[in-house]
Amino acid sequence: MPESAVQALALPPAREPDGAPALRGDVRAFLAEQVFVPRCDAWGSAWGWSPPFSRALAARGWIGMTWPRRYGGAGRSALDRYVVTEELLAAGAPVSAHWVADRQTGPALLRFGTEEQRERFLPAMARAEWAFAIGMSEAGSGSDLASVATRAERVDGGWRVEGTKKWTGGAHVADFFVVLCRTSPPGEDRHAGLTQLIVDLRSPGISTRPIRLMHGVHQWNEVRLDGVFVPDGMILGEVGAGWGQVVAELANERSGPERVLSTFPLLAAFAAAAEAEDDPRVLTALGALVARLAALRRLSLGVACALDEGRSPEVQAALVKDLGTAFERDVVEAARAARPFLRRGSDARLDELLAQAQLSTPGFTLRGGTTEILRSIVARQLVSAALPGVDELAGRAVEPSGDGPLGRAMAIAEAAEVVLDLALVHARTREQFGRPLARFQAVQHHLAVLAGHVMFARAAVDCGEEVAKICTSAAAGEVVRLGHQLHGAVGYSDEHPLHRFTRPLWAWRDELGTEGEWAARLGGRMAGGELWARLSPAGGS
Ligand SMILES: Cc1cc2nc3c(=O)[nH]c(=O)nc-3n(C[C@H](O)[C@H](O)[C@H](O)COP(=O)(O)OP(=O)(O)OC[C@H]3O[C@@H](n4cnc5c(N)ncnc54)[C@H](O)[C@@H]3O)c2cc1C
Repeated sequence: MPESAVQALALPPAREPDGAPALRGDVRAFLAEQVFVPRCDAWGSAWGWSPPFSRALAARGWIGMTWPRRYGGAGRSALDRYVVTEELLAAGAPVSAHWVADRQTGPALLRFGTEEQRERFLPAMARAEWAFAIGMSEAGSGSDLASVATRAERVDGGWRVEGTKKWTGGAHVADFFVVLCRTSPPGEDRHAGLTQLIVDLRSPGISTRPIRLMHGVHQWNEVRLDGVFVPDGMILGEVGAGWGQVVAELANERSGPERVLSTFPLLAAFAAAAEAEDDPRVLTALGALVARLAALRRLSLGVACALDEGRSPEVQAALVKDLGTAFERDVVEAARAARPFLRRGSDARLDELLAQAQLSTPGFTLRGGTTEILRSIVARQLVSAALPGVDELAGRAVEPSGDGPLGRAMAIAEAAEVVLDLALVHARTREQFGRPLARFQAVQHHLAVLAGHVMFARAAVDCGEEVAKICTSAAAGEVVRLGHQLHGAVGYSDEHPLHRFTRPLWAWRDELGTEGEWAARLGGRMAGGELWARLSPAGGS
């Protein structure tokens, strides 16, 4: 039996691949030769669409870099790709033209495609000659993707497709999109009878209506398929097995560093505008963001390592996407709030990135699965995890080891795990309105958020004492708040063991310095240019 719910979410130790510093150095040298304006969210947006940049990257072997060489790939590891991807995102490079093909359609073809499809598409994708879009959502089908109404009917030699896809990013400039549609009517199992088709966006019967984002940028499209003929050879995977394939594709879509780094160019500009002697409000904000980024990168790399080991960390990817996209938004909010206190005064570059990033924020927590859907995925795993009983949990002895800040941070992470387990046991056994609390969605989402804080604190203790103290002290307050909220009155009484863990959490987060004091010191050292280079040292190859 696991000793903690967090064990059910455990990730392998996060480790960078051998040669990561040299690879980072190579990518930085390449980026220094390219001409582009660094932007936030350049991976998922119209302003990041640059076929010339994608082709230059392809010439270096950095598109499809994990694919076998016989399909035009470079046969490198998923962790090498992770490093290259981080570098491109941190630089705000214009990568969106090849993004979908490289991240998800290529891997889907390798996993589910026919040999003929792989030979036809993968080399062209790896050369950045063909761009792909995602044809999942429809006007009536967002989070509930299994309800798609687009249909394909069998005809001689293939399928005739009827329906309308919506929010299709880049369909007006891409060459193909992968369409999720119904090939047989919904039955008892509404996930059965769905199929993925590779559709040429220039096929007769396709018409595209632009949908502009709220700030006027043409990024999305409504794509109407009016009796479009799709030959048999363009079925991706098995007819009727589309749901399982889409779930695998979404795991790839959710797990990458792009769910943490979309606003890194803004964070770097904020650091560059700050000075070591700046106002404490500036330095505290900067230090807190840098510390949080370190812990999140560790979690995100842990997911990549799990994928590299052949595991399917769908739940962990959902949890990290929730934490990471909240961070991306908080970078904007923190930089905005601290900006008036910068000693330097106005900074045109910072203001430009701030305005641009702010307009991107609504999408962060919607695309690729909304925060609410992700929390439901995490909660489903949590409420079914095997757990010890309350008495055993109550008997856990959690004490700081040694007198230093790292010992406090480790004790916070451990006590937070016990609070999560107690909350889970309580939510599963306590009934209100005739059912266990854990059956209510609001309770499930509190549990998922609590688990996020616990995983975050665990990751932070592996990032050195400074990051550990900042992140665990910040998490402790939320762990206590949610732990008590989930327990109701009984958790506020001295009869229940919860307070044996929550009161020390309050104490340890303040001992040897609060998160704010530590963050201000770290912020003082992080002020200045070249933030990414200082966070991720590179070496020559
Ligand atoms: C920037 C961006 C790019 C996108 N690009 C593409 C693309 O290229 N291709 C594509 O196919 N789609 C794309 N999408 C669409 C995206 O997949 C959907 O926005 C997403 O699946 C949510 O669907 P929806 O917007 O219809 O919201 P809805 O599903 O209508 O949800 C609205 C709100 O209700 C909540 N909600 C819904 N159901 C539940 C529930 N059961 N429990 C609790 N809360 C719930 C949601 O969390 C959300 O807060 C993109 C979206 C964005 C924002």
